[in-house]
Amino acid sequence: MKYAGGFYTIRFADGGGTKLRENRLFLKREDIDKETEKRRNINNALSLRRPSMAFDKEKTDTDTAVSAVKQETERTGKPEQIIIHVDMDAFYASVEARDNPSLKGKPLIIGSLPSERGVVATCSYEARKYGVHSAMNIKEAYRLCPHGIYMHGNHEKYKRVSEQLHQIWNAYASKSEYLALDEAYLDVTDTAVTFEKACEFAKIIKKRTKDELHLNCSIGVAYSKTAAKTASEEKKPDGYYEIPTPEDYVNLIIDRDVRVLYTVGSKTAAKLHSEGIHTVRDIQNNQEKVVELLGKQGWWLTRLARGIDDSKVTPYKPEDAKSISREITFQENVNDFSFLKDVLVLLAISVERRAQRSGLFGKGVTLKITYADMKSITRSKTIESSRSADKIYEQALLLLDRVPHKTIRLIGVGIHSLSSREDDKQLSFADLLSEQDENKILDARLDAMNKSYGLDFKNNLDKIFSGETLYKTIEYMRKKNKSVSYKTKTGGLHERNKG
Ligand SMILES: [Mg+2]
Repeated sequence: MKYAGGFYTIRFADGGGTKLRENRLFLKREDIDKETEKRRNINNALSLRRPSMAFDKEKTDTDTAVSAVKQETERTGKPEQIIIHVDMDAFYASVEARDNPSLKGKPLIIGSLPSERGVVATCSYEARKYGVHSAMNIKEAYRLCPHGIYMHGNHEKYKRVSEQLHQIWNAYASKSEYLALDEAYLDVTDTAVTFEKACEFAKIIKKRTKDELHLNCSIGVAYSKTAAKTASEEKKPDGYYEIPTPEDYVNLIIDRDVRVLYTVGSKTAAKLHSEGIHTVRDIQNNQEKVVELLGKQGWWLTRLARGIDDSKVTPYKPEDAKSISREITFQENVNDFSFLKDVLVLLAISVERRAQRSGLFGKGVTLKITYADMKSITRSKTIESSRSADKIYEQALLLLDRVPHKTIRLIGVGIHSLSSREDDKQLSFADLLSEQDENKILDARLDAMNKSYGLDFKNNLDKIFSGETLYKTIEYMRKKNKSVSYKTKTGGLHERNKG
């Protein structure tokens, strides 16, 4: 592949002969111009360090000017970006072991219990020795590590610890991008100015985390986000590693499997492997093929394979969220669809509460179902911008009526196409009135459920939606529902009150 006038030229095999087609498949005109300019800058930055890594050595006048700036940058030791990636070690498990010393040094597995359905959320390094890892089916984990200690997680607690971590991190960064409760990119370009100072910051963050919160983390300091992430993984756990330049990054990973590159998962890796592309070096040597194979992602990989990544640390904004949803996997499969409607009420209220917290409204409702045979389906419906539980519930019900009524193991509800209401319209008086009406309908539903399950839903909503209680409440409802319908069938109880 060759860069020609700002767009890509790719060869396609066409019948018997090979035809050259211009293909603007990745980028729009203005993006191409921006990209060309960016590429020129990066080429120059790289060619100063290592000529062989540059795309092309030809330089225009502009390039010479850019080079001068870059040379100055090199001379004064002020890199364009300095990023720290910090990642807590076995976060949930470490917090639990910290707060209960009898768990220290034991194979500790946080997530579901072996008697339940579900997965490992995280596990201690002692459990990892047995091959247990996060996202593993809990039954499989139990087979590998039957003497492990299994616990439910306490997410409220982890969130509190996470906030304490943020305070430490943010003291050193001008921008932070949180990837999870226990993981973030910190942009320290302006606060540290030099790479050496950034390394000092990283060591202080590590020490403070240990001294103040009694937890271990792994830290990487690098010239880019992806290199920083690679660096923090390099010496995990309790690790520390520096990757100052693209050259250092490439030297480190060049003979490793392609999976070392960010965004390469098992599917992408399999695709590359099947074409004989196994290592980062193979990507470097087969750039054209990689782009043909993977399109835009391939293009990104050919850049990463040469150490190029100028992506910026982007602080998370709630409105960046794509959707807000809540789902439940039942401990035993369910085929009573009127019971599922009761579950939908609670899931819809949960979604409403989350949306309220982030100040967002959705323009679509989604219903997700996984059947007993593990087949999943998702159905969506467009609505007028809303987050009212009643609207969500009403739409989810319509969707539920239209899906095949077979035994299911998971049900979930969510809203998507999110925005803050200001973008669309102000709440009118009529809207406010109708929201009140909607609440009345929901109140009636909850009253009926109070009777059916013998639970005071209405007066315990705050409790039900904190921590794990929603999950436990729904499980309780499922068991109760099962015993009631059994008794009904055998001629005992009155019919349940359902709307
Ligand atoms: Mg972690």
